[in-house]
Amino acid sequence: ALQCGIVGLPNVGKSTLFNCLSNAKAQAANFPFCTIEPNIGVISVPDDRLTKLTELVKPKNVVPNTIEIVDIAGLVKGASKGEGLGNQFLGNIRATNAIIHVLRCFEDDNVIHVDGSVDPIRDKEIIDTELQLKDLDTVSKRIQKVEKMAKTGGDKDAKRTFEVLSVIKTHLETGKSARTAAITEDDFLFIEDLSLLTIKPVLYVCNVDEASVNTGNKYVDLVKDAVKDENAEVLIISAKIESEIAELEDLEERSMFLEDLGLKESGVAQLIRAAYRLLDLYTYFTAGVQEVRAWTITKGFTAPQAAGVIHSDFEKGFIRAEVIKYNDFVTLGSENACKDAGKLGVEGKTYVVEDGDIMHFRFNV
Ligand code: GDP
Repeated sequence: ALQCGIVGLPNVGKSTLFNCLSNAKAQAANFPFCTIEPNIGVISVPDDRLTKLTELVKPKNVVPNTIEIVDIAGLVKGASKGEGLGNQFLGNIRATNAIIHVLRCFEDDNVIHVDGSVDPIRDKEIIDTELQLKDLDTVSKRIQKVEKMAKTGGDKDAKRTFEVLSVIKTHLETGKSARTAAITEDDFLFIEDLSLLTIKPVLYVCNVDEASVNTGNKYVDLVKDAVKDENAEVLIISAKIESEIAELEDLEERSMFLEDLGLKESGVAQLIRAAYRLLDLYTYFTAGVQEVRAWTITKGFTAPQAAGVIHSDFEKGFIRAEVIKYNDFVTLGSENACKDAGKLGVEGKTYVVEDGDIMHFRFNV
């Protein structure tokens, strides 16, 4: 499953957010190391298209997309040198596909700050530096391995790998994250297997006091300015409000509470959507009376590959796919209506699935 890791210094609100996100209960306490083991939660991704399809098809069962959220606690200064449980935490980050970086943008004298004051830019740099140092280590080790081959032999791949690594190394050495290095998508393939920590897509969450949730505050402004070249999303969330929302079981009460605060949607819902966007995935649907279901695929997947997400036999025995575009389905209201209107496409092995496609696979067993 695809994973987003929540990182940040201790006491910035990670486990509070994680608790709201997931059913798993990580304990939130005013204590720097309260979530030592990584906590993993499986979360449904809200999708208006799935809701619409459900209304139209009225299936017995509905299955949304899910992502896994991992609360990665304990990242502190010195982690890249193995301090705290540094290496273990960094290993947990390596296993994730994207990073949610929580920054403390609230003041509260009752909540200790590990570095003595509220300063999200300094906090961000502490975390970034640890991740960059770890990457520098990884990159340097790989350079040692390929350098000789790149310089002596005619091995083209070794040469290219060496070049790409060198670009990234220089970039990291200037205190920048690999994601902003000037390399192409092709270049990336030569270093993909390293799973560099700072090349993973990132989303910043500013955890603000309750009064600033609509407007942001001076800390949020500083964060936005500091990340403006990173092409990253910045979300404003109040973990405190979120935990109050999470306690309201009645959905109507929840929406009244949100309305009172002037919010359209809970911060947690926004966060899940943003995390899903960060993973840069496509969704296709299957829509039968038994079940309407969302499936996650990588951009560029062909029809057999997409079928393989359901079951490997579907991919092996793939014959063809029947495809309806989401907009056609919603406009015409049903599969049969689409068929009658000539809006059901029959596609072969080379068809590249588009976001929102409603698919029906034919296969041999
Ligand atoms: P973590 O170490 O980053 O996982 O931080 P926690 O989620 O455990 O939060 C640390 C402390 O800060 C707890 O006592 C929380 O109740 C408190 N806290 C978290 N978010 C907020 C917030 O938005 N406002 C205030 N005032 N306190 C918060």
